[in-house]
Amino acid sequence: MECSNCDCCYIGQTKRCLETRIKEHKSNIKKDVNNYNVVSKHRVENEHEFDWTNTKILHQEKNNRKREIAEMIYIKRHLNSINLKKNTEGLPSVYDFILIHV
Ligand SMILES: [Zn+2]
Repeated sequence: MECSNCDCCYIGQTKRCLETRIKEHKSNIKKDVNNYNVVSKHRVENEHEFDWTNTKILHQEKNNRKREIAEMIYIKRHLNSINLKKNTEGLPSVYDFILIHV
């Protein structure tokens, strides 16, 4: 998902319907501020909005583990993603150089 007001993006994986997951991200802002996810925090702290209707499917994979690895690779490759560092902890930093430069 890309921010409409800056060049940042959020990358996430789901095995469910994309529309369902986007609705969850969109409505997270209705929760208590302490339960905001990074998307809601970005929206509130910067007064920005995401381009909900133009989300992109970067990759499709049915296998859970392979999908999680693909997510980490895409997060690492998008230098302007707002994803938390913990989202890529499963991918050793030894891969960083080739993921970003190759
Ligand atoms: Zn933004």
